[in-house]
Amino acid sequence: MEYRYLGKSGLMVSCLSLGGWVTYGGQVGPEIAQQCMKTAFDLGINFFDTAEVYSGGQCEIDMGVAIRKFGWKRSDLVISTKIFWGGKGPNDRGLSRKHIIEGTDASLKRLQLDYVDLLYAHRPDPDTPMEEIVRAFNHVINQGKAFYWGTSEWSPQQITEAHAVAQRLNLIAPLMEQPQYNMFHRDRVEKDYLPLFKNFGMGATIWSPLASGLLSGKYNAGVPHDSRLAIQDNAVMKRLRDGLDSEDGRVKLSKVSNLGNIAKQLDCSTAQLALAWCLKNPNISSVITGASKPSQIEENVKALRVVPLLTDEVMASIEEILLNKPAS
Ligand code: NDP
Repeated sequence: MEYRYLGKSGLMVSCLSLGGWVTYGGQVGPEIAQQCMKTAFDLGINFFDTAEVYSGGQCEIDMGVAIRKFGWKRSDLVISTKIFWGGKGPNDRGLSRKHIIEGTDASLKRLQLDYVDLLYAHRPDPDTPMEEIVRAFNHVINQGKAFYWGTSEWSPQQITEAHAVAQRLNLIAPLMEQPQYNMFHRDRVEKDYLPLFKNFGMGATIWSPLASGLLSGKYNAGVPHDSRLAIQDNAVMKRLRDGLDSEDGRVKLSKVSNLGNIAKQLDCSTAQLALAWCLKNPNISSVITGASKPSQIEENVKALRVVPLLTDEVMASIEEILLNKPAS
């Protein structure tokens, strides 16, 4: 495994990490979640990501049980959770001081932990003043309940404002952003966030590197019954499933099939190629993967071996297929 600094901080995160969205506490039971986390840990993954909203809190519960069961040393782990959607009450969502503090406490309880290493604002909250948000995350850090705070899917302007507030008040600014990044979703990471990486030393821990599995090639010939997109009672999965039948979906599937030819030439799987492509970006601190089976983690970790094979020539052939390089 390779470990990278999280932005400008001294914290080292495995460049491939494991998250629990949809899967742990939802699609698979606690035993499979435990097997996946153990496989990941044994392969050198030290960074595990969850959120208060994942499976209504059950993801944090199941991941917390795994952490406790295997008796891993706390210092060997980097655990993150995210606050924004904590429940149905008017104060159970958003980034008020009240919800950041109460939401963090509830997450820690579900995780059976005294602190998380990383705490994210899962989305921006334009209805709460930035000063309230920055002060609340600082309060949580000062209480020892988190070591670093960050953002997820905030605009560059919102992140810049948070930094300005932190600087003005001599408070801790957000260290990392958690954006979507994969071969089909590039603009923010490759273009919009560049000043944040350069000026603030922000780290990026990116999500859906396989576009929910699409970039593994598993959907090229339909939706496998045991795959994420086959889940019936989930609106996001329905949207992704329906999307496969659209013009955009067909174009993407054909690109995935062409990427499969490059993967064959490199003697790797399409998933490994797609993950290696994300890892090659030097602004990425960690690629947060998901897995419903330990075998997927074993396969995905081998993406590390593919990174050195991505020569300028191979990268150019990938661009010829993707045709979506952000204009500089
Ligand atoms: P991916 O795009 O990598 O999708 C993961 C899914 O793809 C797996 O659960 C599995 O689904 C399938 N898969 C994984 N590896 C393989 C393989 N080798 N071959 C075939 N299929 C494979 O990542 P996620 O969308 O899960 O995102 C990763 C993490 O990022 C999340 O768990 C979460 O922690 C975080 N996240 C953060 C968000 C945010 O707003 N901040 C939003 C979304 C995610 P299956 O087997 O069921 O088909």
